[in-house]
Amino acid sequence: SDVGSQKDRVVTEEEWLQKWEMGNIGFHKEQGHPLFQKFLDVLLNGRSGLRIFFPLCGKAVEMKWLADMGHSIVGVEVSEQALKEFFAEHNLPYCEEPVPEIAGAKKFQSTSGNISLYCCSIYDLSSSIVGKFDGVWDRGSLVAVNPRDRQRYVSLMVTLMEKNSSYLLVAVSYDPNKHKGPPFYVPESEIKSLFG
Ligand code: SAH
Repeated sequence: SDVGSQKDRVVTEEEWLQKWEMGNIGFHKEQGHPLFQKFLDVLLNGRSGLRIFFPLCGKAVEMKWLADMGHSIVGVEVSEQALKEFFAEHNLPYCEEPVPEIAGAKKFQSTSGNISLYCCSIYDLSSSIVGKFDGVWDRGSLVAVNPRDRQRYVSLMVTLMEKNSSYLLVAVSYDPNKHKGPPFYVPESEIKSLFG
C-alpha cells in the first residue's frame, strides 16, 4: 500500500510532552502488551541476568516485570513525567542524577539499581554511554519514530546490540491513508531493509 501520506509527518518532542501532560496516552497498556507474554521466551532464550533495552519506553510495565525476574533494564524517554509516573505507580524508590555525557539529560535509577531510565532523546545515546544489550523490547518505538528518522533509529539500535541478542519488535498493519499516525505503518518489507 501507499505509505506516502505518512512519510513527511513529524511529531515534535514538545508534542509528545504535551500528550503526557494532557493524559493523552492511549498507547500505554496498564496490563502490559499481550505479545510480550507470548514471546517472552524468545526474548530470554533461556538466559538469565540479561541487560534489556526499552527504547522510547514511556512507563511500560514490562520494565518492572523483567526487573523482578532478575534482569537489568535500561530505558530512554523524553518525558520526565512518564518516568516519574513509572516509579510512582510501582512504588519504586529512585534517585535522579545528571548524565555527564549528555547536556540536559537526567538518569533515573531505582534504588535497587536494576532499572535505569534516561530522560533525553534516544538520538543522544550511544553504546559508550549505555553499553550493549542482550535483548530489546521495541513496542510503540520504531512505529512512533518519525518516518524520516527510521534509518537513523535502526542504525543506532544495531550498535546497541550484543552479538547474541534478541530483538522483539511490535508493528501495526493498517491503511496509512486512513490514519495519520503515530503509530505509523511500517511495512514488513521496509522493516527488513532497515535492519538489513
Ligand atoms: N514504548 C512505550 C511508549 C510508546 S509511545 C509503550 O509501549 O507504552 C512513544 C513514547 O516515545 C512516548 O512516551 C514519547 O514521549 C517517547 N518519545 C518520542 N520521541 C522520543 C525520542 N526521540 N526519544 C525518546 N523518547 C521519545
